[in-house]
Amino acid sequence: MRPKIAIFGGTFNPVHNGHLRLALDLVQQLGFDEMRLVPCHIPTHRSDPEVASARRAQMVSLGIAGNPSLQMDDRELVRGSASYSVDTLMQLRAERGESCSLTLVMGLDAYLGLPKWHRWRELLNFAHLLVVNRPGYTLPSQGELAEFDRAHGADKSALAEHPAGAVVHLNIRALDISATEIRALTAAGLSTRFLLPEPVRRFINEQQLYGARPETGPRSS
Ligand code: ATP
Repeated sequence: MRPKIAIFGGTFNPVHNGHLRLALDLVQQLGFDEMRLVPCHIPTHRSDPEVASARRAQMVSLGIAGNPSLQMDDRELVRGSASYSVDTLMQLRAERGESCSLTLVMGLDAYLGLPKWHRWRELLNFAHLLVVNRPGYTLPSQGELAEFDRAHGADKSALAEHPAGAVVHLNIRALDISATEIRALTAAGLSTRFLLPEPVRRFINEQQLYGARPETGPRSS
């Protein structure tokens, strides 16, 4: 059987349990041999995350520690330029050869913005797209993304049968957690406990990211 490698890219500002539980559920349900979390260096379709990529990558490493089925892949930091997914997939394809299955994982919110991505239609030359539901988002029935989706939509078995080229939608447990909410709670001095791994939460407080203040009372515990 061809090896199945998943690439889960994101700003991870910060990584949270919505990302991590999703990654683990996908490994367990779809049998990926590798699940590579790829923090972007300079995002190209959203505003500057302000927290440096090295720190965001450090939080991913802290978040996945002790989970051998999840890996941190720092190739976009190493490349050091604007982070285009098409370059990341092209690089992985060159490294891993033509026969392995590569799958780029994204939430539906990210997929809705796909037509703004650099050379977005070429992504399917190098990988499959696996789109998971995210609370509050639906796919439109018309427009270029809807057409693209209909043209390339396939069943999840395509991920094992072909090396690339399919768009697969999967309804999976989706935790309604966002990095935006974690940053907002932190800035307001409220607790983010149980929304993200404890070592990541501690790192944010120690490094005073997102306006974190030193922990004092029960509201911040
Ligand atoms: P922000 O709130 O800053 O936009 P985010 O929580 O959406 O951040 P990102 O790092 O932007 O996190 O997301 C990386 C990828 O993870 C995207 O494809 C996004 O759709 C997906 N994702 C993020 N949170 C969840 C979640 N709770 N459930 C499923 N997918 C998620």
